[in-house]
Amino acid sequence: MANPESRLPENVPGAFYVTSECIDCDICRQVAPSIYQRNADIGYSVIVRQPETEAELRLADEGLEGCPVEAIGMDATALSPALSRRADSAQIPA
Ligand code: SF4
Repeated sequence: MANPESRLPENVPGAFYVTSECIDCDICRQVAPSIYQRNADIGYSVIVRQPETEAELRLADEGLEGCPVEAIGMDATALSPALSRRADSAQIPA
């Protein structure tokens, strides 16, 4: 589980975040390039766009699940009510 205290300030605000445990392996960026991108200034991936649709939520979650060092977290309380219901029905863990 990602440590929210290591959340990078370069992430756009919202439910998903990357932490400083990122090892810059590129997996999340390959899975969901519209959500995760490399920040060259810090050498880590960051969230550049929070998911707004169920499809984007699934992509963001695939990136989270694929991270080998658990450097991606998700705060379900920051999801919009509609997206939160979709996460529940899609059984995406908070
Ligand atoms: S999958 Fe994890 S370790 Fe790899 S680039 Fe993304 S956040 Fe960093």
